[in-house]
Amino acid sequence: MNSSPIGTPLNVIIVGAGLVGLATALALRRAGHHVEIYEKSSFSREVGAAVTCGPNATRILEGLGCDFGRMRAVEHTQTRYFGKDQADGDLSFVSRGSDLFEKFGAKFYLVHRVDLHTELKDRATSSVGIGESCILHLGSAVLSLDAESGTIGLGDGSYISGDIVIVADGINSSLRKFITPHTTPHPSGLAAFRTTIFFSLVNAENEPGLEWVRESKRALCLINDDDGRRNLTVYPCRGGEVLNVAGLHPRTPGAGGLEEEKGFGGHVSSPEDFLEAFKDFSARYKELIRLCPVDNVTLWPLLLFEELPTWIKGRACLVGDAAHAMFPMLGQGAAQGFEDAITLATLLPSTLSTSLSDAGKDQSDTINTRLRLFESLRKSRATEIQTLSNRIGRGLPVLKFEAEVEEMLYGYDAAGITRDALGGI
Ligand SMILES: Cc1cc2nc3c(=O)[nH]c(=O)nc-3n(C[C@H](O)[C@H](O)[C@H](O)COP(=O)(O)OP(=O)(O)OC[C@H]3O[C@@H](n4cnc5c(N)ncnc54)[C@H](O)[C@@H]3O)c2cc1C
Repeated sequence: MNSSPIGTPLNVIIVGAGLVGLATALALRRAGHHVEIYEKSSFSREVGAAVTCGPNATRILEGLGCDFGRMRAVEHTQTRYFGKDQADGDLSFVSRGSDLFEKFGAKFYLVHRVDLHTELKDRATSSVGIGESCILHLGSAVLSLDAESGTIGLGDGSYISGDIVIVADGINSSLRKFITPHTTPHPSGLAAFRTTIFFSLVNAENEPGLEWVRESKRALCLINDDDGRRNLTVYPCRGGEVLNVAGLHPRTPGAGGLEEEKGFGGHVSSPEDFLEAFKDFSARYKELIRLCPVDNVTLWPLLLFEELPTWIKGRACLVGDAAHAMFPMLGQGAAQGFEDAITLATLLPSTLSTSLSDAGKDQSDTINTRLRLFESLRKSRATEIQTLSNRIGRGLPVLKFEAEVEEMLYGYDAAGITRDALGGI
C-alpha cells in the first residue's frame, strides 16, 4: 500500500486480527477507508471460552452491523452471587441485569469468543455491507514498524507503507516498543481456568446438586470464597446450549512449569487441576467442575499491565490489549478495545484531509493530530477501568457503589463523546 493523496480514503494497516483488530478494521471500513489486516496466525483451530459484552460494547458492535442473534449470544438478565460453602436450598443474592437495557439503551450479552470473532471477521471481510471489504492476510507476522513513515516489515522481508498503522497485536505486543518505551507485563500471581461444558450434560446428570445451574439458565453466576481471592464464574452462551466456566485463583508465578513471562494465553490443563484448586468449595460446585471435558480445560496466568507512557507515535497507534490489557474482573478488556475502534473511526472520516479544521496541514500532520486526540479521549478512560480491574484483582476494595461502577462502564457512549469532542475543534 502507498500513501493516499489528500482528500481520498486512507490506506489503513492493522496489525493483529484479534477481537479488537477486527472491530477496528470493520469500523474504519465503514468510515470509508481501504483496510488491510496482517495476522500472524492462520486461525486453523480457533479456541477460547466466552466473554461478556456489557452495554458499552454491544452499543458499538450493533452500531457496526454485528448481530448477536447470529452469534447465538444469550442476553444476560441477572447476576446471582453464591458463597463457596452454599449447599442447595440456600438462597443467593441476586442483583442487576434485567434493567440494563432500560438504563443504558443497549443489552448485555454473553457470547462465545469464537462466535464473536467469526462475526467480526465476516462483517469486516464480507463483500456485502458498508464500505470496501477489508483484506485479511493470514500467516503474516509483522516484525517491525517505522511509525513516522507508517511502514511495517513482514517476516518474508517485504515492507508495506500506509497512511496509518494500527497496532492490535495483544498484551505481548512485539510492535509496542516501536511506539512507546518497552513495557513487559509481569505475572500477577493469579490465574484462571477456562472451559466450556454442554448444558445437556448438566441436564443429563439430573443430580440435585446441579439444580443451581439448571435454575440459572440466563444468569451470570459468581461463586466467591470468603476473601474474594478465588472465584468461579458460570454463564451460558451459544443459545444456552453451552456453559462457560472460569475459575480464578491465586497461583505462584512459574509453578507447574508454566512460563508466564513468555506469553499470555491458555495453557493445556485438566479437570483434576481445576478441582484441586477449588477442593474446599462445596460439593455442588465440584460436581460442575467434574463435567469439564478432559481435552478442553485451559489455564490462563493473568499478567499485570500498568498504564503506558503513550499509545501513539507519528502515523501509528496502539489499541486493545496492546495498549491497555487489564484483569478480567470487570469484563471490560475487549469492550475497551471496541471503544478504541469506534473512537478512531469517528476521528478519521474519509473526508478527513479536506475538513476545514485541518486545512493548511499536510496529511501526516493531520493524522498525527487526530491520533493525539484519540489518545486524549481514550487513555484516561481505559486507564481508569484498567486501574479499577487491577485493584479488584489484587483484592483491594473498589471504593465505589455497584450502581456507580455500572454507570461508569455501561453509560459511556464512545462515539457520541468523540463527536462532541470534534464539535469543539
Ligand atoms: C480469563 C479472561 C476472561 C476475559 N473476559 C472478558 C470479558 O468477559 N469481556 C471482555 O470484554 N474482555 C474479557 N477478557 C479480555 C479480552 O479477551 C481481551 O481484552 C481481548 O481479547 C483482547 O483483544 P485484542 O484483539 O486486543 O488482542 P488479542 O486477542 O491478543 O489479539 C491479538 C492478535 O494479534 C496477533 N498478533 C500478535 N503478534 C502479531 C504480529 N507480530 N504480527 C501479526 N499479528 C500478530 C495475534 O495472533 C492475535 O490474533 C478476558 C480475558 C481473560 C484472560
